[in-house]
Amino acid sequence: MAVRSFQARLLYLLIAILVLLDAGTLISVYYAGQQTLRCTVANELLLGSRVLNRILDTRAQQLSDSLRVLALDFAFREAIASADVPTITSVLANHGSRIAADAVVLVNLDGTVIADTLGGRLSKKPFPFAAMLRTAQDRGEASATVSFANRPYQFAIVPVLAPRPIAWVCAGFEIDNRVLTDVQRLTNLEISIWSSGGGSQLAPDDSRYATLLQALPTGDGSRVNALLARNLEEAQIPFRNLELQIFALSTIVLIVAVFAAVVFARSVSQPLRVLAEGAGRVERGDYVTPIVVQQEDEIGSLATAFNQMQSAIATREDEIRFQATHDALTGLPNRTLFLDRLSYAIAGAKRNGPSVGIIMMDVDRFKEINDTLGHQVGDQLLIEIGRRLEHTLRQSDTVARLGGDEFAVMFMAPTFRHAEEVAARLEGAFDLPIVLGDVSVDVNASLGIALYPAHADDAGTLMRHADIAMYDAKREHSGVAVYEPGRDEHTLRRLSLIMDLRQAIARDELELYFQPKADVRSERVGHAEALVRWNHPQHGVMRPDEFIPLAEQSGKISLITKWVIRKAIAQCAAWRREGLDLAIAVNLSALDLFDSELPTFISGLLSDAGLPPASIVLEITESAVMKDAAFAQKVLADLKRRGVCLAIDDFGTGYSSLAHLKRLPVDELKIDKSFVLNLTEAATDDLVIVRSTIELGHNMGLIVIAEGVETAESWQILKRLGCDMAQGYFMTKPLPADAFKAWLRASRWAAG
Ligand code: C2E
Ligand code: CA
Ligand code: CA
Repeated sequence: MAVRSFQARLLYLLIAILVLLDAGTLISVYYAGQQTLRCTVANELLLGSRVLNRILDTRAQQLSDSLRVLALDFAFREAIASADVPTITSVLANHGSRIAADAVVLVNLDGTVIADTLGGRLSKKPFPFAAMLRTAQDRGEASATVSFANRPYQFAIVPVLAPRPIAWVCAGFEIDNRVLTDVQRLTNLEISIWSSGGGSQLAPDDSRYATLLQALPTGDGSRVNALLARNLEEAQIPFRNLELQIFALSTIVLIVAVFAAVVFARSVSQPLRVLAEGAGRVERGDYVTPIVVQQEDEIGSLATAFNQMQSAIATREDEIRFQATHDALTGLPNRTLFLDRLSYAIAGAKRNGPSVGIIMMDVDRFKEINDTLGHQVGDQLLIEIGRRLEHTLRQSDTVARLGGDEFAVMFMAPTFRHAEEVAARLEGAFDLPIVLGDVSVDVNASLGIALYPAHADDAGTLMRHADIAMYDAKREHSGVAVYEPGRDEHTLRRLSLIMDLRQAIARDELELYFQPKADVRSERVGHAEALVRWNHPQHGVMRPDEFIPLAEQSGKISLITKWVIRKAIAQCAAWRREGLDLAIAVNLSALDLFDSELPTFISGLLSDAGLPPASIVLEITESAVMKDAAFAQKVLADLKRRGVCLAIDDFGTGYSSLAHLKRLPVDELKIDKSFVLNLTEAATDDLVIVRSTIELGHNMGLIVIAEGVETAESWQILKRLGCDMAQGYFMTKPLPADAFKAWLRASRWAAG
């Protein structure tokens, strides 16, 4: 738009200049023409007056000449001498008609008219032009213009010599049309001559004429005027023609010049338009099409600079786009690009049919590796994992790093089987440990599979479902899990539970249940494990497996732990007052071991309640201790120093090494119920594990306890293997405090 107006403006400017030039030329031609016309006409008039005078002079001369011839005529002189008037008159008439004079007069030396050709009108009267006669007497002859009978005449007078003057002969012509026609023939003028008595046929102030009024010299003092007139319209004709020619010519030149201006304006603005179009393309994100301007001038170099800029922008945008869509560490596509490609693949699948599969992958225990071996090793590990995943898959599949230790894979999956094969291949990628420098890391991953269209209709939902499946796999230690429809509601429930959890303590919805731990040999209950329950207003009594993980995730766990510890110690003190001498076991979460205030908190409560430190046992899972072994160890050492008892819970499910275990200041080893639940003489595997764990614990000087004892048979086996304590439904399920007290009072397990 701007370019077109630039072209138009340039064009208007050029045309305006041309038109002004043209108009200026025409105007000055016109004025110069007028000027010249005036001069020409003035000159013509002057010339005309000169011509008139010359003609009059010539006629006067001719008149004098012919009169002189007459004066020499012998018969004429004789007739004068004899005063023979009739003869004289006839001679005058003859001669007059020969020379075409209008009047011939003979005057005697006194100045009296003797005879004339006017019928004797002047005879015996004094000659009318006395001044002329006097001039002739002085000079020998005379001629002059005079008024005669109110008409302008030319008269000439010469003496008749015999040989002395005897008379004057005089002749005159009227200055009539013949004279005027002569002048008109020689000039382009119209002319009129009149004497003071008469008038002009021409009006001297007629605007169509340029005029020159000339008073002719007269010989009798009368006034004779000549008016010379030039018809201006006529005089203008050659100028008009010239002007017309110039006008036509300049119009042609103007048209040609305007055409040239259009071409010029185009040629100037055309490359500008090309540049503007190029800029528009860049704005729309086209960095490929170059600007083509075949010019060597400034605009040409502007175009070149523009093209360089364009490719620089393209390069930079490519870089930025790459950075925005790829993970800096591994160079793999990031979440944004993955989601993009997934949406694209789903859109394609909607048209063509095949299903799209994704697998979410989370590296197990990555945080531990990172914390133990350092971030650099962690980074190297992630790079290597990315590399292995890529090698496992086909070129057309996408591997992305979504963040942290989370990877995602997208592929075409015609069947479920196929998706599971891909998952198996991915798992296989970690069969060999990853060697980084001198460390060799055994990597395991949890994989969640979700398929389009079986599990979701869009990319976002599909990713969420694969995520849910992955968490299932992680929780169940199953390696791979396929999304189970309906898990979304589960997620929602989790979310709303997290919200409810905030108020659970304030509304006093938590409650402690107690389960006895009995000495195997004496069959007496020595401890009670406090197990928390949540009396949820909608969901009823909830088991800790359902909400403790949520509390851990949402950061509420330390509140719950403190509530449990406070409640448990209070209960312990209350029972003690009633004569029940029991130690209370409390479960700690991994996160509780990061709270360095916890030891102080616990010993403060114990001394307030007047209880010895050994009346509380803290149960900590193996994996909790492993999370940040160094720090956890410090907190545990602190607790131990204060005399609190410590137990390793769920022993056998984690990864702790013996060497590590040896350094922990614990008193009890609690064999995980998964080894105990099905413990029979026939179950050799479990038997071996339980036996060796008991031996191991005893070797390390620890009390060994088995949980999940449901049958008398397993009780007997444990007793035979030398297990110190047992816990399980065989005695009772966890019970509320009052029920627990009642159960204990009534049972054979009561102490004492
Ligand atoms: P845990 O510490 O291993 O607790 C023992 C669990 O095994 C209890 O489940 C108990 O009811 C169950 N159990 C006991 N005897 C038997 C048996 O003979 N057969 C079977 N099948 N199960 C038996 P519960 O009460 O649901 O607790 C589950 C887990 O929740 C606990 O496992 C513990 O890790 C956690 N937990 C419970 N209370 C708390 C708490 O106050 N704080 C923390 N951080 N965790 C807690
Ligand atoms: Ca426990
Ligand atoms: Ca346990």
